[in-house]
Amino acid sequence: MKLVVGFIFAPILALAAEQSVIIRTNYYAVSGATFRELRADIAQKRPWKGDGDGYTNWKIDWSFTTGASDGDCRLESFQTKTAITISVPRWVSPPNVDAELKDKWSAYFQGLLAHEDGHKRIALAAVKEMRKKVNEIGSTGRCAELQVAVNRVANQVVDQFKEREKAYDTRTDHVRIP
Ligand SMILES: [Zn+2]
Repeated sequence: MKLVVGFIFAPILALAAEQSVIIRTNYYAVSGATFRELRADIAQKRPWKGDGDGYTNWKIDWSFTTGASDGDCRLESFQTKTAITISVPRWVSPPNVDAELKDKWSAYFQGLLAHEDGHKRIALAAVKEMRKKVNEIGSTGRCAELQVAVNRVANQVVDQFKEREKAYDTRTDHVRIP
């Protein structure tokens, strides 16, 4: 008779955050005394190539634990860490700038923030969908299969929401200084 000694490690999950979301806003300084000057300066100063005066970058990192019993492997925990970084211009206005230009900038800037907020909402919806879809995965025979399935589903959700973002940009045509 063989003596089988098994150790069961209870995962220490109670203290670990199941999901965390970090949202940052970065500003790049622009200057100009007219909208035309501001437009030109934004085109020059924005720290990325391509269109859009603002930019929202998001990334979801996920991790999980699985556990097997009776030839069945199931998900024990699923954690997500989401980082959202929003970049927008900040106007360093010259002294004695006229009130009309200030108002125009303010309206433009609010519109830009609202647009970037749409990207942020898509990112948060992606996390929600990822957690839902991953939890819908049933048990598998082997844990290796389950791991493959979880990563596939999570990646699919990210791809799907990146596509949704492209459609959002096409629909709203970014936001530009008039
Ligand atoms: Zn956009």
